[in-house]
Amino acid sequence: LMRLYGPLTSLSNVHVDVMTALVSFDRVFEVLDLRPMVAERPDAKPVPEGPVSVEFEDVRFRYPAASEVSLASLESVARPDNGPSQEVLDGVSFTAAPGELIALVGPSGAGKTTITSLVSRLYDVTGGAVLINGLDVRAATLASLRDTIGVVTQDAHLFHDTIAANLRYARPGATDEEIWAALRAAQIGDLVESLPEGLETVVGDRGYRLSGGEKQRLAIARLLLKAPRVVVLDEATAHLDSESEAAVQRALKTALAGRTSLVIAHRLSTIREADQILVVQDGRIAERGRHEQLLARGRIYAELYRTQFRESSETVAPPD
Ligand code: ADP
Ligand code: MG
Repeated sequence: LMRLYGPLTSLSNVHVDVMTALVSFDRVFEVLDLRPMVAERPDAKPVPEGPVSVEFEDVRFRYPAASEVSLASLESVARPDNGPSQEVLDGVSFTAAPGELIALVGPSGAGKTTITSLVSRLYDVTGGAVLINGLDVRAATLASLRDTIGVVTQDAHLFHDTIAANLRYARPGATDEEIWAALRAAQIGDLVESLPEGLETVVGDRGYRLSGGEKQRLAIARLLLKAPRVVVLDEATAHLDSESEAAVQRALKTALAGRTSLVIAHRLSTIREADQILVVQDGRIAERGRHEQLLARGRIYAELYRTQFRESSETVAPPD
């Protein structure tokens, strides 16, 4: 019996380890904003090489009802099940050409975050298609999607681990030199250098407490290390002190340069630089164009600009 128990006990330990591993994988996906609740097709192909375009073709979407949601999406599980969910996106079409910066603006609840989560195939569309370099994301391998797209959200999640380890989640093989280069480009090299334990400093709730701006810059360093071809960014609305704000801006400029980018934009400077501004309202693109064009039109964007973006040159829109 002991013989039998032995293996069984270790088996259940293995089970615990596997669960722990799965949970931490899930956390990694959360960090990269890729928690695929979606299945990979047996004939899935990698995202084609080269500069990347992102295309939405008449995309419709409703969130799965809480009862359909797997453990992977704790956020959705936490929501009460209010029966059949509402259509959140109602025919969204746009094309981000390689290297373009697309700014998403619009009221809270309009569907901006949902649009960005469909790029990395966090969920599958319920109608239409999302294409990356012409390949439907449902036909792409999950690994290639994960490699292609880098996400920085407003609340950068850090693991209770060293700075080096936190960065290596993005690229396991990265050398210390590569990590330092990313930290410097993200305007946080000096700070890390000044810490007694440098790269080996443990951060997170129980470790060295980073400010909001510092956390964001670490998240940007992680993005730079990953060097994805597509960047999805939910611009922070957290109140950063002005010095850290300027540093975050410089870091983001580096991160976005030359990459196809979708930015939920709260800063006028980003919106002004955008190749296309998509004004999202009630799950549709209500207006699109460049800053001057949309201002001249004098409709929804002009109103948003007047009420949210204008007050000072760097006024930040209210958080979602
Ligand atoms: P925005 O980013 O423009 O503020 P969101 O994309 O976050 O808008 O939300 C669009 C709509 O989808 C809202 O009505 C919101 O309540 C709903 N929603 C967002 N996330 C979820 C989710 N995980 N499950 C169910 N409904 C959601
Ligand atoms: Mg949002």
